Amino acid sequence: MILTTDERLALLAAIVDSSDDAIISKDLDGIITSWNKSAERLFGYASEEVIGQPITILIPPDRLQEEPVILDRLRKGERVDHFETIRRRKDGTLLEISLTISPVRDGKGTIVGASKIARDITGSKRIMAELQRSNAILEEFAYSASHDLQEPLRTVKIFGEILMRRHADHLDAEGVRVLGHLQRGAKRMETLLNDLLAYTRVTKFEKPSDRVDANLAYESAVQNLGSSISESNANVTANPLPLVPMHFAHLQQLFQNLIGNAIKYRNPETAPIVIVSARRDASVWHFSVEDNGIGIAPEFTQVIFGLFKRLHRAEEYSGSGLGLAICQRIVEQYGGRIWVESKPLQGATFRFSIPD
Ligand code: ADP
Repeated sequence: MILTTDERLALLAAIVDSSDDAIISKDLDGIITSWNKSAERLFGYASEEVIGQPITILIPPDRLQEEPVILDRLRKGERVDHFETIRRRKDGTLLEISLTISPVRDGKGTIVGASKIARDITGSKRIMAELQRSNAILEEFAYSASHDLQEPLRTVKIFGEILMRRHADHLDAEGVRVLGHLQRGAKRMETLLNDLLAYTRVTKFEKPSDRVDANLAYESAVQNLGSSISESNANVTANPLPLVPMHFAHLQQLFQNLIGNAIKYRNPETAPIVIVSARRDASVWHFSVEDNGIGIAPEFTQVIFGLFKRLHRAEEYSGSGLGLAICQRIVEQYGGRIWVESKPLQGATFRFSIPD
């Protein structure tokens, strides 16, 4: 169907009027030249009241300096994208909006004005602030709970040890067995609390001013894993690694958790082989930790990054189910991503990206 110019204009006007966003146009002196239905709803002015008026009637006094800067950019042909600011309604109340403003050209390409799309973001800003507040409360709670629970746990551990050391002779076989359960439970609780504390500690942090040598972070992780590497006869190697904009402790923790898992979830029939590598793709570093272990079934490759998510019982493999959650939290704080590629019994390759 071919539309006439009039039909095309009518269609365009209908589209503009049916938009949920306020769509306004103005000339290069900042005088309003068009005003759609959503602009009426958002700002409270009817189009007859504002067309021909300066756009500054929408700007609160303390933001008036924004308009000359915007007009200047438009005259140069530049767009203003998702500029978050405050504007004023007819009744004087303020609203938070996101503005996208583009220059409008005439048939000869000369800039003659601007079209402005204003989206009300008051609601989404409020929800975001509430989310941040409740997240902060939850984190504070998790931190205090894991911190404060360590004290009574220490008491249970110490008295359990005293009982085992000094009074085991007075217990029958059943008593010794029960005491053993109690001590293992306390040990497991200690691992859980330590990991939970480590998780809550990875909160917002300053971006590092220096780069860290990933080779040193790797070597330190390997040193900390020394006993499990020698007990399992693991062959752990790394290709040359880069300098990356991260904190040493975070990168070391990533290597330690991933290499530690590669050894823990080994194939019982072969000694573990673990290879750490990195390559750069555009402005992102991609690290990988590859193993020849038991692997992970495809349906579990996402869940394992969740808090306390484990695929095995504590009697099969020790752990808290927090190691990968800690890795994910660290990587995401740097704006990166972590994932795994694996097939059951064919090893796993954990990959994480860090923007440079
Ligand atoms: P944990 O090791 O304490 O259970 P993690 O968060 O480190 O907790 O890992 C979650 C689960 O992911 C593990 O229980 C295990 O089932 C699986 N997993 C992690 N790393 C590997 C690996 N290299 N090979 C196979 N399975 C793994």
